[in-house]
Amino acid sequence: MTFLTAAAPPFFKNGYLVWCEETREAVLIDPGDEVEQLLSAAGTQRLAVKAILLTHAHLDHVTGVGPAKKALDVPVWLHRDDLFLYDGAVEQGRMFGLAVRQPPPIDSFYEPGVPFRFGRQIVDILHTPGHCPGGVCLAIGPAGGTARELFVGDTLFAGSIGRTDLPGGEFDTLIRSIREILFAFPDDTVVHSGHGPDTTIGVERRTNPFLNG
Ligand SMILES: [Zn+2]
Ligand SMILES: [Zn+2]
Repeated sequence: MTFLTAAAPPFFKNGYLVWCEETREAVLIDPGDEVEQLLSAAGTQRLAVKAILLTHAHLDHVTGVGPAKKALDVPVWLHRDDLFLYDGAVEQGRMFGLAVRQPPPIDSFYEPGVPFRFGRQIVDILHTPGHCPGGVCLAIGPAGGTARELFVGDTLFAGSIGRTDLPGGEFDTLIRSIREILFAFPDDTVVHSGHGPDTTIGVERRTNPFLNG
């Protein structure tokens, strides 16, 4: 599995293009204002993007869904519990003083325990509510193996956690999601966050101030 990330103003949210080297099949995760960079990389790398996978439906993670859907014509996936946020994208924009277009409809909802596949890679969908009700983390790795890298959206950051003061956010629920679901992964598991640098499960387990002491 190989990936590329990009971020753009005003939110500097990380969007990801993740692909299987053998088959060149790919997924696009959380396309936002950096979407043109990700689409252009998909072209340069000659990738067949199979889906647009959303970790959650806050505005910064969905502003690129429209252009991505138009360019790729592939299904958009979301957890059902975040549909109210997705349907409220224009209203979310208004809260930030931004005029945004409503993104195209969701095509598929994640089903608990049903992984997504692209090429020889598997995507386990982990429901990790707390930052928002339908937040998921995507655990991606080779089919037939247990190694995974985590694309966690705004659930966990290097040295921090997602905010819980937005509609549907719950602090205790978020802490439980991280402890019970993410911390079940081995220490060397790489974590790709929705904002800021990569980290690992081990580093956050030992040093994240929200999860220690
Ligand atoms: Zn968010
Ligand atoms: Zn975000």
